[in-house]
Amino acid sequence: MDDIRKNWRVETKGVQEGWTPKSGEPRVLPIVQSTTYKYDTAADIAALFDLAVPGHMYSRISNPTVEAFEQKVASMEGGVGALAASSGQTASAMSILNLAQAGDHVVASSSLYGGTYNLFRHTLPKMGIEVTFVDQELSADEMAKAFRPNTKALFGESLGNPSMQVLDFEKFAEVAHRNGVPFIVDNTFPTPFLCNPIALGADIVVHSTTKYIDGHATSVGGMIIDSGKFNWNNGKFPGLVDPDPSYHGLSYTETFGAAAYIVKARVQLVRDLGCYMSPMNAFLSNKGLETLHLRMERHSNNALALATFLQQHEKVSWVKYPGLPGSPEFDRCRKYLKAGSGVFTFGVKGGKDAGEAFMNRLKLAAIVVHVADVRTCVLHPSSMTHRQLNEEEQIAAGVSPDLVRVSVGIEHIDDIIADFDQALNV
Ligand SMILES: *Cc1c(COP(=O)(O)O)cnc(C)c1O
Repeated sequence: MDDIRKNWRVETKGVQEGWTPKSGEPRVLPIVQSTTYKYDTAADIAALFDLAVPGHMYSRISNPTVEAFEQKVASMEGGVGALAASSGQTASAMSILNLAQAGDHVVASSSLYGGTYNLFRHTLPKMGIEVTFVDQELSADEMAKAFRPNTKALFGESLGNPSMQVLDFEKFAEVAHRNGVPFIVDNTFPTPFLCNPIALGADIVVHSTTKYIDGHATSVGGMIIDSGKFNWNNGKFPGLVDPDPSYHGLSYTETFGAAAYIVKARVQLVRDLGCYMSPMNAFLSNKGLETLHLRMERHSNNALALATFLQQHEKVSWVKYPGLPGSPEFDRCRKYLKAGSGVFTFGVKGGKDAGEAFMNRLKLAAIVVHVADVRTCVLHPSSMTHRQLNEEEQIAAGVSPDLVRVSVGIEHIDDIIADFDQALNV
């Protein structure tokens, strides 16, 4: 049975992995809505506290429903383990806090989601972790200049939100590994169905499961996946190697081997910060994964059709979608992604005001601060998600004042196009 599983494709894993009921058990992943777990002896629980045996003790640290969801995503991404978090923001924050501390430094692409940019630009520095932002189109040697002896990670988004830039995976992996640090990828927009960062050299993958993984706009959540491939024993990561006094001097690399990073994130960070996913959100997000491959195909096909329509529309000044033939990102999109995903950006002729007027006239597409659910929606990043950034920072993040971001849903494409057409034609 395990041999068969190993060869399963990502579509099959999305449907089948995580929960495998035994005879007489529920067919569908049950919601284990329990904060705690009963054991027969005090010694049983002591062994859990010592990390001597696996098992659940308290739902701030692990829970059977959340665990099934974690195992499914880990399998789909090809990692050795995963940790679900209460949001994508928490997943990104923990991915760094798990390997860096005050006095350390991180290099990140400047083309990031607004929330991640704020986290890196303002909050991590308050904790003593400095972040240098680099233009992700710099050459490998130019990027390498941003690294310092205390640099602990290189961070980028596989598909930038909302810049729609496709990451040059080979370059990022090479620069990170040349400098002895892990390459962390936010794979939220492509999802494990369209892109597999670990196969492309990533060491750690993070997700906002809030987006396509849930896919129905019901649950905020995040995930960290550990490839198990990074060698933490290179002198740069004492937190993963040296004895942890909060577990009687246990060493994560010694005790947990390839899973050191993801075990530490759970038993140290989630234990202390308490930002674990709830069983209900794991249940809903797991349900989303069962149809992820079907939805991503439709999202991508609809996005390509709408982008193609808008590209030749007289009221539209530009369209940026990596899945669009002729787009500067097209070759890289073909190389690294199965399809272009469901989000793209465009400019309405007349700039910011014309763009806002267009958005207000839409009837099917809604203006919401969200992307990546089954319903088509639009957003104006420079006045919404990226408004905390100054103009220079907005440009670096790929946000021009006239940019409208569209998240194309899975409705019938003719209805989506008709809505955009009527809202543009006034
Ligand atoms: C939304 C998003 C996040 C943050 O996730 P939340 O679940 O909203 O906290 C991080 N990265 C990307 C690319 C996102 O789109």
